[in-house]
Amino acid sequence: MSEKRVYTFGNGQAEGNAQMRERLGGKGANLAEMNLIGIPVPPGFTIATDVCNEYYEVGQEKIVEILQAEVNAAVAHVENLMNSKFGSTENPLLVSVRSGARASMPGMMDTILNLGLNDEVAEGMVRKTGNPHFVYDSYRRFVQMYGDVVLGMKPVNKEDIDPFEAIIDEVKAIRGIELDKDLSVDELKDLVARFKKAIKEQTGNDFPTDPMEQLWGAICAVFRSWMNERAILYRKMEGIPDEWGTAVSVMAMVFGNMGETSATGVCFSRDAATGENLFNGEYLVNAQGEDVVAGIRTPQQITVEGSRRWAALQGISEEERAAKYPSMEEAMPEIYKELDAIQTKLENHYRDMQDMEFTVQDGKLWFLQTRNGKRTGTAMVKIAMDLVREGLIDEKTALKRCEPQKLDELLHPVFDKDALKKAKVITQGLPASPGAACGQIVFHADDAQKWREDGHRVVMVRIETSPEDLAGMSAAEGILTARGGMTSHAAVVARGMGKCCVSGAGAINVNYKNKTVEIEGVVYKEGDYISLNGSTGQVYAGEIPTKAAELSGDFKALMDLCDKYTKLQVRTNADTPHDAQVARSFGAKGIGLTRTEHMFFEDQKIVAMREMILAGSVEGRKKALAKLLPYQKSDFKGILEAMDGCPVNIRLLDPPLHEFVPHDLKGQQKMADEMGVSVEEIQKRVESLAENNPMLGHRGCRLGITFPEITEMQTRAILGAACELKKEGKDPKPEIMVPLVGILYELKQQKEVILATAKEVFAEEGIEVEFEIGTMIETPRAALTANRIASEAEYFSFGTNDLTQMTFGYSRDDIASFLPVYLEKKILTVDPFQVLDQNGVGQLIKMAVEKGRSVRPDIRTGICGEHGGEPSSVKFCAKIGMDYASCSPFRVPIARLAAAQAALED
Ligand code: ADP
Ligand code: MG
Ligand code: MG
Repeated sequence: MSEKRVYTFGNGQAEGNAQMRERLGGKGANLAEMNLIGIPVPPGFTIATDVCNEYYEVGQEKIVEILQAEVNAAVAHVENLMNSKFGSTENPLLVSVRSGARASMPGMMDTILNLGLNDEVAEGMVRKTGNPHFVYDSYRRFVQMYGDVVLGMKPVNKEDIDPFEAIIDEVKAIRGIELDKDLSVDELKDLVARFKKAIKEQTGNDFPTDPMEQLWGAICAVFRSWMNERAILYRKMEGIPDEWGTAVSVMAMVFGNMGETSATGVCFSRDAATGENLFNGEYLVNAQGEDVVAGIRTPQQITVEGSRRWAALQGISEEERAAKYPSMEEAMPEIYKELDAIQTKLENHYRDMQDMEFTVQDGKLWFLQTRNGKRTGTAMVKIAMDLVREGLIDEKTALKRCEPQKLDELLHPVFDKDALKKAKVITQGLPASPGAACGQIVFHADDAQKWREDGHRVVMVRIETSPEDLAGMSAAEGILTARGGMTSHAAVVARGMGKCCVSGAGAINVNYKNKTVEIEGVVYKEGDYISLNGSTGQVYAGEIPTKAAELSGDFKALMDLCDKYTKLQVRTNADTPHDAQVARSFGAKGIGLTRTEHMFFEDQKIVAMREMILAGSVEGRKKALAKLLPYQKSDFKGILEAMDGCPVNIRLLDPPLHEFVPHDLKGQQKMADEMGVSVEEIQKRVESLAENNPMLGHRGCRLGITFPEITEMQTRAILGAACELKKEGKDPKPEIMVPLVGILYELKQQKEVILATAKEVFAEEGIEVEFEIGTMIETPRAALTANRIASEAEYFSFGTNDLTQMTFGYSRDDIASFLPVYLEKKILTVDPFQVLDQNGVGQLIKMAVEKGRSVRPDIRTGICGEHGGEPSSVKFCAKIGMDYASCSPFRVPIARLAAAQAALED
């Protein structure tokens, strides 16, 4: 690699720009861009992302050698613009060293502030600024961050979060103060000394005093933080490749901790939880960097509107609010105006909601970061539709920007309104991330994971969260914190995950040691149920029933937009009228798969079904089938009616019969009585049904071929129901599907049975209903001979569960023993039963579609099975020109959006 590795920016100029996020990371690219559009940003430089990979190849010593000249030049560039010198005792320059990948990974990697300090530099700064408190506050922050991040300091006690915080707490306890900013200069000085001593004790090394050595240490530590546990976990959750690497941005420090005219804050151009077009954010006077998000001091609101809303939630009167908790708009009106103008400019420039960081140093505003803000699914939809209405983006951009998977949140249940009226609000926090959550209280991330694995739904309750809690947050239904505002770690991460979160519930008292939380005098233990409403910030005792979400407002508008551009239709998999109705309300255009077997499991039906299976003769079977017929018919009638006017694809009986018979003595005895034979006889027949390899055994059309009377009964039920509906003035559109075909003649023979039965039914009913006969393509042989099969099939439905199973030769039920290892070793990147394997299984599908069309140009093709609701799989189906995808009701909107995106990508 001989090309440029370091890109400078400052004073309205930059070597990079927003388009270069792959090389510079999102943070670096946007720092450059902000310079170019005239926003005040401290000067600095960015080391490209590929250097991170290089670091992992060649190691620290070598990378320093490679970068030396470029970094030295870039430091000189910053010194020039800042009119100061790195390491100087007269006029020192301090810098921050920041991580930043292509995709935003908030808080997952490391950053070091105030770098360049040692005892002499600190004294020089005191002379220059006359503000020893500020200097030693910065110094102790620096030693602390450097110790944690670069020198890898670990807490001495297990309960401590940070080795240095424990020392600070000791000092604060002696003095009886609560806030870091109230520490005296001497105490700060003392802290620096004690921190250094702790570092020497734990690592055996002295704290580095040479600023250049500090800088190299920090740069390499940022590279290393790419591979820290939480960053790896976050990438896994978000599907970010390990190969991307992080950039390193080094920039001149600006100080929010210089006193009452200085501040630091985070703001959003719109509400990241609801999407409302409302500038909002939080700030802290006389503070630095992470103070706002860390949730240690409760930050204040930026706008008056935000401040009033916050006060209302806290039950604080307007007078008290204005006096004690003024917004920035009130407290620093001039700076606020500038901030507001810049946030508007940035949103218009990026044409998307921005999440920004700023610092005010002694009355001067500086921007430190901007990015497209993480948001909830609700906010994603609202912002996209609002931006279209505001003319900032067009419809296609809106569709492309929305992430299909995120719609899932809008489909989550919400608290039942009536139940909510009766529920008891026990406390109120901030509505940090919307949704309803209900579960058992846990206090630690690893407990959350453990309880979840044992099948519990949990709510994680914390004083505050830190990036270490990521896995626990992911396992929980919701998160409740005592401290931290709307921009705290918990809030930002929860919104990104689409997880319900109530933050800053100041009245709760968390005791990690006893695993209890006290709320208004009542003590709740680990395992007690609580419920959270992330949209209002209300917390309830106990479990509150929920009800299904619905499609309305902007969500519906977005879905209507999908229909405007999509080519692939979306159907649903549904076995009951209720599911069919739900799917219809989400925009399903029919049923792509009705499994008949689920219907058999209800009381009387299962008895008749078992009788049919255990019968010793054709006569016995026919007798039992006659009992089943009316049940099946009424089931089909319900579904056809719920989907009236839309196609309903019904699959003939598919699973191995062994799955239906009783395996316990009581059940066997019952069948013996029912059928008038001995229990031994029943046991013999049950045994005879056992197979070594049931998924490859007597199932699918093999059942209908060996027992044609089953196919006959099912056809009778389907078409009989359709005839009745037609007589009632309805418009049923049944499709009859033969499963697991591998040989043309299987389909041919089943078709004969179906057609002969249809003739009889229509004659009996005195009315005819149009219907179609198709097949599933779910064995590799069916795909390979699809041209032959198409001669008898009016449509193909790709059963990708079985097709994946048989193409890979993986038993779906046994995959758990090796899949995790395969994923870890990167033999597979995803579970092929969740995400369609486009290179293998997908090729079979593509070939089968083409072969089918070569014989029957208008053959309809669709996909059913898990993949029908998975965005990348749906896109694949759209791209190879399939007619529809079918998925479970609650995934219909996700599939619709993915299908529309596929059409736009073409
Ligand atoms: P993260 O990705 O975790 O947000 P950042 O690199 O953005 O980490 O930095 C952490 C905090 O430090 C942010 O609040 C940021 O605004 C602040 N910060 C970073 N660089 C500087 C700087 N040069 N001057 C002042 N504050 C800074
Ligand atoms: Mg940041
Ligand atoms: Mg199948």
